[in-house]
Amino acid sequence: MPKQANALKDYRKKRNFAVTPEPEASALYEGERQNGLLYVVQKHAASHLHYDFRLEWNGVLLSWAIPKGPSLRPSVRRLAVRTEDHPLAYGGFEGVIPDGEYGAGTVMLWDTGIWIPKEPDVDASLQQGDLKFELFGEKLRGSWVLVRAATGQGTSKQPQWLLIKRRDRYASTSDVLTEKPFSIASRRLLADIAREAQGDASPAAKGGPPGRRR
Ligand code: MN
Repeated sequence: MPKQANALKDYRKKRNFAVTPEPEASALYEGERQNGLLYVVQKHAASHLHYDFRLEWNGVLLSWAIPKGPSLRPSVRRLAVRTEDHPLAYGGFEGVIPDGEYGAGTVMLWDTGIWIPKEPDVDASLQQGDLKFELFGEKLRGSWVLVRAATGQGTSKQPQWLLIKRRDRYASTSDVLTEKPFSIASRRLLADIAREAQGDASPAAKGGPPGRRR
């Protein structure tokens, strides 16, 4: 059995693929990628807005949910909660997860590109809780680190990490989240994605707004 099939067990368990438009298969997402490991950030308006930070490794996307999103300031540490591995195909997903489904809400492709780990043994870095890497995205670039936070906070089963920008020429005091709010795939805002998905699904959309019906 391919390693990937087992790696995505949690991902599959949480989702009903008859209902959600999210990808089920582990089909490779080629996208704009040429060579290298895929890097993706998805802005996700679920019950709480967060940014899903994903790094390709061993045929899946390692994933962290970042409630406040990434910051370009090296002095800022952003909480990043490790979540279940996602299929590579998820790196191409933008759309609306229906009400009642896991992660219900709107997903935007906020940034993508490739990443390069500083140390070649990523599994060892993860085990040590210290993963340093370079990002080559459209919005996020340069040197970053994910460090595992001290355990024992509350009853959360999900490991807590911190995403930190390292000092280099891409470090900045500007707020990349507000300055670059658009989808890198469609140039839409979250509200546009939500509205257009609703338009597709709603029978009323085909007949025009109710007020104008004869
Ligand atoms: Mn999410």
